[in-house]
Amino acid sequence: MNISVIGTGYVGLVVGACLAETGNSVCCADIDVKKIEGLKQNILPIYEPGLESLVERNQAESRLTFTTNLQEAIAPAEVVFIAVGTPPGEDGSADLKYVLQVAALIGRHMTREQVVVTKSTVPVGSATKVAAEIAKGAKFPFHICSNPEFLKEGAAVEDFMRPDRVVLGIESEQARRVMTDLYAPFVRTGKPILVMDIASAEMTKYAANGMLATRISFMNELANLCEKLGASVDLVRKGMGTDSRIGQSFLFAGPGYGGSCFPKDVKALVRTAMECGSPLQVLAAVESANERQKKVLVEKVKQALGGKLSGRRIALWGLAFKPGTDDMREAPSLTLIDGLLKEGAAVCAHDPAALDHARALLGNRIDYAETNYEALEGADALVVVTDWNEYRHPDFERVKRTLKQPVIVDGRNLYDVEKMRDLGVQYHSIGRPSA
Ligand code: NAD
Repeated sequence: MNISVIGTGYVGLVVGACLAETGNSVCCADIDVKKIEGLKQNILPIYEPGLESLVERNQAESRLTFTTNLQEAIAPAEVVFIAVGTPPGEDGSADLKYVLQVAALIGRHMTREQVVVTKSTVPVGSATKVAAEIAKGAKFPFHICSNPEFLKEGAAVEDFMRPDRVVLGIESEQARRVMTDLYAPFVRTGKPILVMDIASAEMTKYAANGMLATRISFMNELANLCEKLGASVDLVRKGMGTDSRIGQSFLFAGPGYGGSCFPKDVKALVRTAMECGSPLQVLAAVESANERQKKVLVEKVKQALGGKLSGRRIALWGLAFKPGTDDMREAPSLTLIDGLLKEGAAVCAHDPAALDHARALLGNRIDYAETNYEALEGADALVVVTDWNEYRHPDFERVKRTLKQPVIVDGRNLYDVEKMRDLGVQYHSIGRPSA
C-alpha cells in the first residue's frame, strides 16, 4: 500500500518504519528540515530500541522515504496518517492547531480517494473537525479513521509490531477494509482489531491513559501513607497485584508520572469532561496528586541532608522520564532539578540516552557526567530518578567511596532496604522504611 505519515516524531517515525517493514511504500513527512535531513542519512532524532535498524533497512530497500515536501507526501497516498503533536493549550485542552493545519493540506493536495487516519491523540469530536477542514479543499472522496496509538516509548517498535489490540474508529466500509488489511500482519497471533465508531475510538485512548495515570497516583499516595504508618509499599503492591482482578502492572510508586502523554492527556480529558458538564473528579484528583508527588524527591533530599541544600552538590542518575527513551518531556527529573537549584544546590546528572536532550534543555544550569560513577564525584547525595537497568546493580562500595557521604535517595525503589542498611548507606526510598 502507498502510505504517507505526516509528522515524524516518536509516533510518526515508528509507525512509518513499522509499516514499511511489512512491505508498504511509506513516505514520512515533517516540517522540521534538520530532522528530515538527518533521517535521510539514517541519523535518528530520537533514541528508541530497534528503530535505527528498521529505518536503515527500509530506507536502503526504498520502501521508506523522508521529505519536507508535504504535498509530495500527500498526493499519491492511499492512506495518510496524521501524527503531529497535540500539546496542551493554555486551558489544558489538547491544541488541535497542527492536526488541523495538516488536514487542510490533505484536502488541498490529495489527488485520489484517500483514507485519512488520525494517529495523534485528539479529543472526542476532533474527527469531525478534521473532516470539515479536509472537505474545504478536497476534490476526491475521503474516509476518516481514528486509530489511536498505544505504543510505549522505550518499547515502541515491539509494541507496534505486536500490539495488544488495534483500535479503529471508522464510519465507512472502505476505511474498515483498508485499515484491517493494513494491520493484518501485526495481529497474526490473534490479537484483536477492535472496530468501533469514531467517538469511542477517540475516547478509548484518553480512557486508557487516564486509567494508567490513576493507578500510578493511587500507588504514590498509598506509598506516602505507608511511610507514615511504617508499612512497605513494595509488599503492599505484591499483596495487591497478585489479585487477578487488579494485576501487577503500573503499581510501582515513584516520583510522579511524566512524559509527553499522561500529563497532557489527563489534563485534556479533565478539561473535556468539565466542558461537557460531566466532571471526572477521580481524574482531577489524580492530576493534583501527581503534582504533589513530583515535589517529593526534593523534600527527601533536603531532609536527608539536614534540612538545607544550599552549597550541596547532588548527583542524579536518570533524566529521561522513563528508561529506554531519551524523551524528557515533563520528566520528574526536571521538577527535581528546578527544586534543587532553587534551594541553592548544584546538580551533576547522568543518563544513558538523554544527555544531549538535557544539554539542549538545561544548558549550563547543571553539570553532566558521561558515566554514572563520574556523576558521584564530590556529591553529597545520590538521587536515583529513572529506573534504567544499569542503575539496578551498581558497585555500592564504589558508590560509597565516591560520594562525600553515603546518602542515597531512591525515587524508584530499586534497592533492598536491608542491604542498604548492612552497607551503611543512609537510604531513603518511596513508601518504604528508611535505612
Ligand atoms: P513529537 O513532538 O515527537 O512529533 C511531532 C512531529 O510533528 C514533530 O516532528 C513536528 O516537527 C511535526 N509537525 C508539527 N507540525 C507539523 C506540520 N504542520 N506538518 C508536518 N509535521 C509537523 O510528538 P509524538 O510524541 O510523536 O506525538 C505525536 C502524537 O501522538 C501526539 O498527539 C501524542 O499525544 C500521540 N502519542 C504519543 C505517544 C508517545 O509515546 N510519544 C504515544 C501515543 C500517542
